[in-house]
Amino acid sequence: MKKLLSRLIELISNLIPLWLYPVLMRRVSIDFFYHAVSDDPMEHARHLYPIVPVDQFEQALDYLQQRYQFVSYDKVHNHRLKGNLLPVKATHLSFDDGFAACFSVVRPILLRRSIPCTFFLSTDWIDNRAMFYRNKISLCVDRLTINPALISKINAWTPDDKSLETTIRWLKELRLPDIELINTVCDALDVDWQKFLEEFQPYLTIPQIQQMHAEGFTIGAHTKTHRKLKDLSDAEIEEEIIESCMAIKEITGQDVVPFSFPHSAFGIERGLLGDIRARHPFVGLLFDTKGVRKDENYIVNRVWAERALTPERRLHSLPEVLHNAYQEAWMDEMMDAARRIKA
Ligand SMILES: [Zn+2]
Repeated sequence: MKKLLSRLIELISNLIPLWLYPVLMRRVSIDFFYHAVSDDPMEHARHLYPIVPVDQFEQALDYLQQRYQFVSYDKVHNHRLKGNLLPVKATHLSFDDGFAACFSVVRPILLRRSIPCTFFLSTDWIDNRAMFYRNKISLCVDRLTINPALISKINAWTPDDKSLETTIRWLKELRLPDIELINTVCDALDVDWQKFLEEFQPYLTIPQIQQMHAEGFTIGAHTKTHRKLKDLSDAEIEEEIIESCMAIKEITGQDVVPFSFPHSAFGIERGLLGDIRARHPFVGLLFDTKGVRKDENYIVNRVWAERALTPERRLHSLPEVLHNAYQEAWMDEMMDAARRIKA
């Protein structure tokens, strides 16, 4: 019965045009986020999510500027926490992870178009002091994709099935607690991530961050190390949020520092997050990744703009991604309503 209902709701959701969803769901604004826009290959990130080519990013901005009004972080903050009105069809843009391309590629485009934006950074990587473990994994995947024979070099650690596909899947599932193994695999594959850090400088530097702040962009925190907060103790969650926000406050002088969750805020106690914000008033709004779903007033859900919706990881157009986000949230709301009626 539940399956049938969910199928029916899905069928109806397919018939609803994109323009109708915000009216139907009474959404006054949308938030969306990217990681990387660049025409460079970005081998340290391209196996984690699609790198958006510059012309596709410009097309997405054209689409949004024709239909929505970009607003700054401050406007979203004052709307959420003080009840100030937002312009009709407001939208807020943000970038996660703090890649150098945010400065060299994204920033000039946004300045030319006068679009405000919030950049969320993992603070341990600022100034290229350390490399994100998942960027190391992407470099390893890149090396193996170019030369699959290298799988033999990491035979001792990989699953029994030594195919390229299984090995890559295994690599991508490694997490921060596996960092020693990730470093060992890098060594075995001759992936010199230290040299990569020095030569390519993949992350933002303090002078770049300060310049972006001076140009009017908002800088936010994205933890120190990009750890999945759900797996941590309450004290560790507080430390990751507070210390990363404090580091951004020191670099930029901002009174308020917004924060975005690495991965998502799924499974994290909302009571704990409310307490952390009450104890540390300089922590701004918290940004999550659940599309257009509703949450606490201080949690802003965002649409993942470059999310690949299909297994072949095709980069989708923004209208497709938006439609999918509204559809997912609408289906959730309908299923919730059906459950309430049943109860
Ligand atoms: Zn991230």
